[in-house]
Amino acid sequence: MSRAQCFPSIGVDELISHLRDLASNVWWSWNEEGWSVFQTLEPSEWRATNHSPIGTLERTTPARIAALACDPMFVKRVYDGLAARAAYLGERAWFQRGASAQMAGLRVGYFCSEYGLHESIQQYAGGLGILAGDHLKSASDLGIPLVAVGLAYRHGYYIQQLARDGSTVVLYPDYDFARWGVEDTRVTIGCPIGSRIVTARVMRMWVGRVPLYLLDTDLKANAPEDRKLTEGLYKGEPHLRLRQQVLLGVGGMMALKALGEKVTVLHLNEGHAAFAALQRTVDLHSSGRPIQEAFDAVRRATVFTTHTPVPAGHDRYDPKMVAEELASLALRAGLSSEELADLGRIKPGDPKETFCMTVLALRLAQRVNGVSQLHGEVSREMWKEFYGLPASKVPITSITNGVHVKTWIDPDAERFWQSASGLRLSKQAPKATGWRHVEGCDQDAFWKLRGRLRRRLVHFVRDRLAMQCKRRGEGQTAVAATYSLLHDDALTIGFARRFATYKRAPLIFHDAQRLAAILSNSDRPVQLIFAGKAHPRDEGGQAFAQKIFAMTRDSRFVGRVAFVEEYDMHVGRMLTAGCDIWLNTPIRPYEASGTSGMKTPLHGGLNLSILDGWWPEATDGINGWSIGGTTEVPDPAARDDADAQSVYALLEESIIPQFYERDEAGLPRGWIARALHSAATVPAVFNSHRMVAEYTRKAYVPAFQIRGS
Ligand SMILES: *Cc1c(COP(=O)(O)O)cnc(C)c1O
Repeated sequence: MSRAQCFPSIGVDELISHLRDLASNVWWSWNEEGWSVFQTLEPSEWRATNHSPIGTLERTTPARIAALACDPMFVKRVYDGLAARAAYLGERAWFQRGASAQMAGLRVGYFCSEYGLHESIQQYAGGLGILAGDHLKSASDLGIPLVAVGLAYRHGYYIQQLARDGSTVVLYPDYDFARWGVEDTRVTIGCPIGSRIVTARVMRMWVGRVPLYLLDTDLKANAPEDRKLTEGLYKGEPHLRLRQQVLLGVGGMMALKALGEKVTVLHLNEGHAAFAALQRTVDLHSSGRPIQEAFDAVRRATVFTTHTPVPAGHDRYDPKMVAEELASLALRAGLSSEELADLGRIKPGDPKETFCMTVLALRLAQRVNGVSQLHGEVSREMWKEFYGLPASKVPITSITNGVHVKTWIDPDAERFWQSASGLRLSKQAPKATGWRHVEGCDQDAFWKLRGRLRRRLVHFVRDRLAMQCKRRGEGQTAVAATYSLLHDDALTIGFARRFATYKRAPLIFHDAQRLAAILSNSDRPVQLIFAGKAHPRDEGGQAFAQKIFAMTRDSRFVGRVAFVEEYDMHVGRMLTAGCDIWLNTPIRPYEASGTSGMKTPLHGGLNLSILDGWWPEATDGINGWSIGGTTEVPDPAARDDADAQSVYALLEESIIPQFYERDEAGLPRGWIARALHSAATVPAVFNSHRMVAEYTRKAYVPAFQIRGS
């Protein structure tokens, strides 16, 4: 294309190539200098593609691109974005500044079955993926030498729609990996699974300084059932699931080797990835190490994070199936089928015991942790039999989850904290002491920020409801009516999570009459916004979504309860920023940690939560509200009843009165004090920089130092 007729000018092709360059590293997603360039490029396409840089670029008209090539302000922003990224990538970060020469060989191989990096890269089902995505971004910011491994799912998880009767419609789109800015490494591996060698190509996605390698088996070279290995996340069927996990662990290790990535420490994020440690053991054995020594060496250098406090949540397989799928590995290791099966059993030799991925991981990792203090406790109790020790002596520690602040904080909120209390987030260091000072900020300005964030959420939800309504073919009047639902200024409660049944999404409707009275008080209105996906095979979870959908149509709740389909990172960001209260009602102690509640305080919102997961560590009685107590009620009906009563009482007696108690200036002083206290106490601790620094100090570095050679 010709050079545009303007000055100062840049060729159109040159501009496109710079934009592609900027899109080639997911760095753009957590840095405004990155993503805002693509938003400006074509705002409507930016929205239409769910904020995909390459998608936006491809859908922007040549005329528009030519015009922007003549716009010196725009061209400057592109150069500035690239320069900011180059500076970031070249900087000595926290780890480099503190690492001694002996740390030179540390390189962590991080394995996870899902990654939540951005809404336009739909490769996550829920909290595990979000956590892994945040882990990679913080590892990059802090300069931790880490490479990540996962699978590239053609259909992602799934796209959720609700039909007119509220039943879940499951859609499987076909993603074009090129739209995510991945590069083909041109490396392929042949992973032995069962009696076949499955070919996988390895793609690389850059997450700041961290490479994420993704395996794809959807290739002509493979048998149809092998092509399906990377079709989608958690399709459910156990045989497919096992084979996917062989691909992730065994194939992932093979990929690292083929790429020349010399990993010294393994981090298995959840049991799904445990075969990676087994493959590493066999590699060591093949290079001459006796098998027992190889096991010991790998064990010393392996870190395992468990995420599942529910016994039924751990993957268990028929040992025969495992022996078949891993026959080639067992042969290389010189292990019989029974010896292999025993690696996944609490009691080796017990033919009745199935093969458990968590047990395999516990056996192959010296450093094991849960994801909150409470979950650490629960895990020690759950696995004491494996260790043959009393729970208090079980060597499972805890490293509490955190969120990547730059990913989750709203730019408006970030600018507000910056100007109102001098908070600076750009520092690439784990300390987040700046939050301490936010309590002194201007209360009037803070309340205005809250109003903006809530109003923006209300408008976003109305738009979504109108779209949903249109899609269901509900007619003009119904569509138009969505624009009068919800209030800009009403106390807004959010609930968004995976609709696993233990999370009890409908709990707040336990006594619908009482809730209706609470919501519809015209002096003190309250509204509820829900979002969340149930697993395609989870009928109970889908029934919960249907129940809430029905409530949005119930005459007692119309206009005060909304359900937003397709909970993704964007919906998550909007909701956690705009809601005044973030509701969390799991059955204690089934929520290993939870992280969505950590996103609300970044915006001066408050938690209303069961004392489960991370919340008991965070709450001081002022920065939010706690539902129920810490004693477990075994009878499900009595438990739900008690927890629901506790929610109503807190709303009626404390939350609603404080939100609506205004002074002469129209400010709810008591509420604001609590909200600012939430911002001052939660993000400083529950962020992923602190979390990754903790993994580095307590797990990666010690594992590296004692690994032997
Ligand atoms: C933050 C987040 C999660 C994890 O939150 P939980 O508290 O574990 O439910 C899951 N999904 C999305 C889209 C998120 O943004």
